[in-house]
Amino acid sequence: MAIDLGFVRKCESWRLESRFFPSKVGGKPAWLGLTNVPGKNDTKCEHCGDPCVFLCQVYAPYPDPDAFHRIVYIFVCKNADCCKPNQNGNLKVFRSQLARCNSFYSSEPPVEQKDWGDDVDVSKWTKTCRLCGIWASSHCSKCRAINYCCRMHQVYDWKNGHKDTCGTERDNNGNSFLFPEYEIVIDTDVSTDDGVENIDEFQSEQEELEKYNKMVQDGEAGTLQHEDVNDDLSQMANSDEKDEIFAEFRAKIDEYPDQILRYDRGGKVLYISPHNQIEDVPKCSECNGDRQFEFQIMPQLLNFLDLRDVKCIDWGILAVFTCKRSCPTNGNYIKEYVFKQDIVQETNTDNESQINQST
Ligand SMILES: [Zn+2]
Ligand SMILES: [Zn+2]
Ligand SMILES: [Zn+2]
Ligand SMILES: [Zn+2]
Repeated sequence: MAIDLGFVRKCESWRLESRFFPSKVGGKPAWLGLTNVPGKNDTKCEHCGDPCVFLCQVYAPYPDPDAFHRIVYIFVCKNADCCKPNQNGNLKVFRSQLARCNSFYSSEPPVEQKDWGDDVDVSKWTKTCRLCGIWASSHCSKCRAINYCCRMHQVYDWKNGHKDTCGTERDNNGNSFLFPEYEIVIDTDVSTDDGVENIDEFQSEQEELEKYNKMVQDGEAGTLQHEDVNDDLSQMANSDEKDEIFAEFRAKIDEYPDQILRYDRGGKVLYISPHNQIEDVPKCSECNGDRQFEFQIMPQLLNFLDLRDVKCIDWGILAVFTCKRSCPTNGNYIKEYVFKQDIVQETNTDNESQINQST
């Protein structure tokens, strides 16, 4: 079975607005449903209580009239201390879906032009936080024109720009609070999945790797962190050669080293480690029906997030489980389940600098 892989690509920000139903990383969430968008209580980190920040969204419609449009969103807390091995308290996932005929969008497919349908915008329906894009419950008390989800974001924005633009028409668009924005481009994995490694495949993997390494050398494949993560992965592989789970994970990555997403609805999680695998997926919070695996975010995404600190957010994989029948949402954002698996090695402390050990 072929599965879909996702890769990041820079593109103009207008292409990543709600009206084009994007899959994307970073920036503000491009909300699908333009009312009832999640607020600070929905995105609240279970460890520190701050609102989690938008990480990525995946456009994934269902063959069901009620889910003609459908987007799954992931949020993560930016505080490194909240990132605990094999715990998901610093992550939130939401599902939004709409019928083809709905109150917000034309029933015709969008036309990829900058000014097409630009009257469709969340600001017409809901107040959202200028800093992070979630539902805003308050506003700047001076100009009353700018909204915020919480006091912390208001203070941050004041110090980082709004102080100079408050009360003027100007807007400081640069926003270093959010993750850098990318489009997610989806491609089908054409490599076979029969478990038999023949020489041709091995050679083409080697070629892919060489191509990729050359790109890294030429500075074409993002930042130096690329090498860091790949070095980490090599070290981990060498430190435990009997780890078949990790070897398989590694092999899948080597096929397409820049994959940040593996989409395999109803399929199996590609684990990074034999330890701390998922046992129980909670039932759908809306219909109490079963959830199933839908997709996973790969550690490669960390390379594209401009994480400058040594001690920063981290994950092995983020596996997202959603309601199997994608039950009706009644215009709301439904919480779904995310499972974070990390590589935690007891014997080797070299690779643990990114993982907070406090409990
Ligand atoms: Zn937190
Ligand atoms: Zn906010
Ligand atoms: Zn103001
Ligand atoms: Zn459900």
